[in-house]
This record gives sequence, C-alpha cells and structure tokens, in this order.
Amino acid sequence: MIIRTHYSNQLSPEMSGEAVTIAGWVHETRDLGGIYFIVLRDREGFIQVTMPKKKVSAELLEMARGISRESVVAVEGDIKSEDRAPGKFEIIPSKIILLSMAEVPLPLDTTGKVGAELDTRIDSRFMDVRRTETAAVFRTRSNVLRAVRNFFHENGFVEINTSKIVATATEGGTELFPITYFDREAFLNQSPQLYKQMMMASGLDRAYEIAPIFRAEEHDTRRHLNEVTSIDVEVSFVEEHNDVMEILERLINYVYREIAGTPELKALSIELPIPELPFRRITYDEVISMLQDDPNVGDIEWGSDLDTACEKELGKMVGEHYFIIDWPTDSKPFYAMPHEDKPELSKSFDLMHPRMELASGAQRIHDYALLRERIEAKGLNPDSFDFYLKAFRYGMPPHAGWGLGAERLLMTMLNLGNIREAVLFPRDRRRLSP
Ligand code: ATP
Ligand code: MG
Repeated sequence: MIIRTHYSNQLSPEMSGEAVTIAGWVHETRDLGGIYFIVLRDREGFIQVTMPKKKVSAELLEMARGISRESVVAVEGDIKSEDRAPGKFEIIPSKIILLSMAEVPLPLDTTGKVGAELDTRIDSRFMDVRRTETAAVFRTRSNVLRAVRNFFHENGFVEINTSKIVATATEGGTELFPITYFDREAFLNQSPQLYKQMMMASGLDRAYEIAPIFRAEEHDTRRHLNEVTSIDVEVSFVEEHNDVMEILERLINYVYREIAGTPELKALSIELPIPELPFRRITYDEVISMLQDDPNVGDIEWGSDLDTACEKELGKMVGEHYFIIDWPTDSKPFYAMPHEDKPELSKSFDLMHPRMELASGAQRIHDYALLRERIEAKGLNPDSFDFYLKAFRYGMPPHAGWGLGAERLLMTMLNLGNIREAVLFPRDRRRLSP
C-alpha cells in the first residue's frame, strides 16, 4: 500500500477536518516551548505539522523532538486551516512514523540558507536534488526530453536504439574511450552517426535516438562533458541540409513553448523568451568577414573551426539562435556532402545559441563511391568501415541529419553557468563518481 494519501499540493484549507497521511523529509523544525513544528517537504512542496503541547500526547511530542532534520517520516493527522502556515493550512498529527533517520551532521544544507560549491553538491547529488531549485532543473530536464519525444512522434519519427559498444571510431578521431570486449579492443561510441545513417537504408525514413555519447576529450570547460546525452536525428528523402535545419529550429521553438510557463520554471524565476522562427542563417564565409576586424578574435585561417572567442563575439552580434551554414568541407567529417558547384564547401551547419554551439548537422553523402573516396581523403582506411559502407551499396536514399546536446540545450534554456548543473552525475576529466 502506498504510504501517503496526498501530496502537499493536493491539500488545502478547505479540507479542514479531514484525516490524511503525508510523507516526506523533515525540512526544518522549530521549538517554541508550548508548540513544536515540523516543516515536512515532499516532492511538491512544504507542509507545516503543528504540535501544540495541549493537543498532542507527550509521547508523540517527545518522539517528534528526537527526529533529526532530513529524516524520512509519514505523518497521520487532521488538516486545520491556519493563515500563518505555508498553503494556509497545517496538520495536527495523531501519529508520526519514522521511516528513516538521517545522520547528523548533514553533508549539504537543503534549505538554501547555506550555499555550497558545485563540487560539494555533486558529491551529495541525492541530497542536492532535495533543494527546490535543483529539483526544478532536473524536472525541467525531464520536461524537455518529453517535449522532444512528443515533437518527434508528432512529426512521424521512429525512435531507435543503437549500440554504444563499437569496433570502429565514428570519425576516425582519437577521442575515444577504449574498453576491453572479451579478448578484443572496442570503444564507447562517440556518436550514433554511422548507425543512424545505416538505418536510412532500412526504410524507416525518419529516425531519432536519445542516448549517451562518449568523448575522450581532455578539455576542462563549463560546456564540455565526457559523457553527453545526444539527441540525434536522421531523415531520408531530403534534398539539402536546410530540410533538417527546419526540423531542428522547429524543435527548439516547440520545446521552448512547452517549457515556458511550467511550475518548475516559476520555481527558478525564469522568464523564457520563445526564439522566433526562422533562425538566421549565416554562411561560414560571412562569419569570417563579420569577425575580420574584431579585436577580440585572432586571425581566422579559412577552413578552420571557430574557437570559443569567435563563438562569443558572434553570439554578441546576433543575440539569438542562429545557424552557421556551408562550412569548408575539410573542416567537417567525411560523410558531409560537398556542394556540387563548390566542392570546397559542404552542405553542413551548426546551430548556435549566443553562448555556444548546440548542434551540428549536414546533408550526408549517399553515393558509395564518393563516400569511399572521402574516407580515404581523410586518411582513414575504408576497410574498417565495411559494415557501414555496405548499407550504401544496395539502395541508400539521400539523407541528412543532426546531433543536439541535451545538456547544452537545458543549460542555455535555464541560463546555467556550468554544464555540470544540467546532468545528475557528470563525467569529466576528474570525476568518475558518484
Ligand atoms: P564543440 O566544438 O563545442 O566541442 P563538437 O563540434 O565537437 O562540439 P559535435 O561532434 O558536433 O560536437 O556534437 C554535436 C553536439 O553534441 C554538439 O553541438 C554539442 O551540443 C554536443 N556535444 C558534443 N560534444 C560535447 C561535449 N564534450 N560536451 C557537451 N556536449 C557535447
Ligand atoms: Mg559540432
């Protein structure tokens, strides 16, 4: 049987006189001599449990006084309207059941009165999520991922799950975590790229996957993790990269609209402006000229990726979500489709938030011979891509897609200072636990 009859938000002063059972954590206690208070916290809020000496038994009062903060209790009692209490009601208990006593002292303050460093909070993440703001962040994460899934299903996508244990590096990079797979070397996958592309040869047409990707990158920044939740999409029978850019910008707009006005956002005191459609498209060449005389960025070599300083300056100039399109072919992975009339440029894009990159995508090469050629041109061995190339030999439709980092999406929506605030158990250079 479920221990509680009601959550805090299901109770009201109008229910005065009703007997209920509530359950949660002892958030705070107050002893005024003649009257003892427990503020109980459950998932939805706070409830004042009031014990006037004259109305409750001496045993109950003594027992309540012995319960430490953050212990887990169930309280049976009657609702009484009380203007001075949170929610304008209180519970006069007839019984308190101690379900789990918390040790003293606590590793973290849950009332918000004492601040804590992010590292300390992550060390005791279970406790950190008891704080209203942290809970609101992770419930928003849940809301965001639900909105993303709803969007995909409303738009005819099929959810797929591909293996995270692979034999070949997706892009031939060195940024992989090797693992031992029985007697062979294998890797944790850095992206579902090759797998979602292979599924375009399966006839699913529109596929998405929300799953971890692993990057053995050594950077130590506020926007990089070594394990990321990637929202990946691949779409068949599209003519150019713009077709999947539209899906991406519509998704961002949809998620913002779904999240604006949620109680979690109110708890975080965030006003969420809805990014307007369509997002601006700026070509790589235009970006170079926009940044040419900018004293805050160094010389940009044509063909190179844009560094943090460039992203920051552009973000200031544009001030809202935007796309950088038509990247130099050599700056993108081998599967990016070159423009027919200008092969040094590719049909590729990055989705940018003023603070950072959110997603990368492209029209993909679906021609077997050209793909092989591009793999070789990147100095990779096509033989190790046999399993992938095979899918291009028996009928592969033209396709395009993108990958969007879930943590960066949440981080930019909620204006979090550090990406580690957007993931329960971050994995970075230093952290492997909890
Ligand atoms: P950056 O240049 O910002 O390091 P990237 O271009 O290497 O990112 P992609 O390989 O294009 O990243 O991955 C697609 C998306 O996945 C990124 O736009 C980002 O949202 C997310 N992502 C990739 N790597 C990381 C990471 N290490 N930490 C957090 N998010 C990441
Ligand atoms: Mg990228």
